[in-house]
Amino acid sequence: MARIAQEEIDRVKSQADIVDVIGHYLQVTRKGRSFVAVCPFHDDHSPSLSISPDRQIYKCFVCGNGGNVFTFVQNYEKVTFPEAVGRVASLIGYQLSVQPDSVAKPKDPHREALYAVLSETIRYTAYQIESTDGTAAREYLQKRGLDDSVLKHFEIGWHPGGDVLYRFLHAKGYEDRDLVSANVVRTTSTGMHDVFADRITFPIHDGYGNPIGFSARSMDPSAPSKYINTNETDIFTKGDIVYNAHRARAAARKAGCVLVCEGVTDVIAFWRAGIEHVVCTLGTACTPHQIQILKSLAARIVFCYDGDEPGQAATVKAIQLARKAGAEVSVIINRTGKDPDEIIRDLGVEELQKLSRQEEHWMEFMLAYHSSRTNLQSYLEKKELVEKMQPMIASLQDETDISYFTGQLEKLTGFTLKTEVKKENTETVRPLKKLTVPDGTMQAEEMILAMMMTSPEAVRKFEEELGYLTGSTHQELAMMIVNQVRSRHQADPSALIDNAENQQVRNLITDLMSRSEEESTYDETVFAGALRKVKISVLEAEADAYRDQLRADLNEKSMALILEKYGDCLRELRRYIDEENRN
Ligand SMILES: [Zn+2]
Repeated sequence: MARIAQEEIDRVKSQADIVDVIGHYLQVTRKGRSFVAVCPFHDDHSPSLSISPDRQIYKCFVCGNGGNVFTFVQNYEKVTFPEAVGRVASLIGYQLSVQPDSVAKPKDPHREALYAVLSETIRYTAYQIESTDGTAAREYLQKRGLDDSVLKHFEIGWHPGGDVLYRFLHAKGYEDRDLVSANVVRTTSTGMHDVFADRITFPIHDGYGNPIGFSARSMDPSAPSKYINTNETDIFTKGDIVYNAHRARAAARKAGCVLVCEGVTDVIAFWRAGIEHVVCTLGTACTPHQIQILKSLAARIVFCYDGDEPGQAATVKAIQLARKAGAEVSVIINRTGKDPDEIIRDLGVEELQKLSRQEEHWMEFMLAYHSSRTNLQSYLEKKELVEKMQPMIASLQDETDISYFTGQLEKLTGFTLKTEVKKENTETVRPLKKLTVPDGTMQAEEMILAMMMTSPEAVRKFEEELGYLTGSTHQELAMMIVNQVRSRHQADPSALIDNAENQQVRNLITDLMSRSEEESTYDETVFAGALRKVKISVLEAEADAYRDQLRADLNEKSMALILEKYGDCLRELRRYIDEENRN
């Protein structure tokens, strides 16, 4: 089997998002900071599988199955580790330099044929915009601030007229039916004709970076439509598309949010302003499926639609959809009266950057939106506003938010309102749990391992003072951590998962990774206490064993030897117990 270099494995792992990958196999739903799904590894009826986008691990709380993105694919598809790396790589559109044998996923030949047609069309149009035929288009874009770097990044091209694309693709041996299916060519009574002739082309990709269609702009002011998009095809379904998702993924994960605007030119404008975690929904109508894709990109969805009436109405709908899907939402209200492309052109890059930072609570937007459409002189209209806003405010999780927005609504209407605070919110300040050494030996060992995964100092102490653990899975993991820290100075839990030889160890690692930060942060006293606990239980077992031996018939010599060892053992035990009592 071809070997995949470690750097490549690391790159695939860092580019893949576990929520996305699992979402490819299972229906995943956001729940607080993590996602949940029905576990495929046991007979699950409620979602027991929890996925943490922060830690990039999954864990089933019923059957215990857990691991990282590769573990999931390995277990789900029942394939080897290199094969799992291959599957994940192909899911995220990462080209591995070696193909691990038998990775090749049974691909859908029809879809593959359409991707091939579109890839060829992108290459062709990108070549054309560089040529003399493309001069006018290039100048047209340059005047709008879209220089060569923008053209390259977004693969913008020029599609000449005269059915040249059809002739080119036909000559290259592409099947006519695939050209029509991909909607780059259409059949009419006069033969085959190019769909995007005489237009500037903006390629559209799916979330994995496969080309699926185009948005194409005419330079002719008299053209019946400035923009035309690919018609519905087998790979281009309008409500399923989030433009730029594949490019924005890494930046969105880093930023913790994804900016959603209306159109392709808005995305490009933000990108030119250095804001890369930006996508668009190709128009203002956002669908539940698009919300799912947005959710998979980042923890928070930030809508930044235009300030005009359709844009604002769309924002209301999008917020409702996103809230319903359990997503964290906020809004950037564009009050400039210009779209992002106009802002960057007329007001400059800084203005657009400034706008991108003006995030507001979605409830601020809702209050402003609905109150601006209410006659605040009319008692009946104010009452209607209160009735509309109160359930929305009550749906907020945060007590401060609830009382703040209730106050705002009171100010607006002059009404006196009751704050509806849910019971579960009354206990907001939980006292910090003080970390103590757990009672059981196994629990103490897990605490030792959790701290060893986060702290090289803990690993050093473990080696010096104990050097082993009693549970066999615990011991296996402890040795793996010790070896890893020797070579790279700090444990890397996700790499431990990859290197683990059995699923039990992987489950244990994910268990430990799922602990809260305070539970796994190294604390000298607590760690020493846990080591002592293990030591005491080992010595107690040893002492028991000696006592058993002494009961047997022994010759004098053996008896003396065992008695000596038993004595040593008891003395050591005494020392640890005294130490324990002092602490
Ligand atoms: Zn399970």
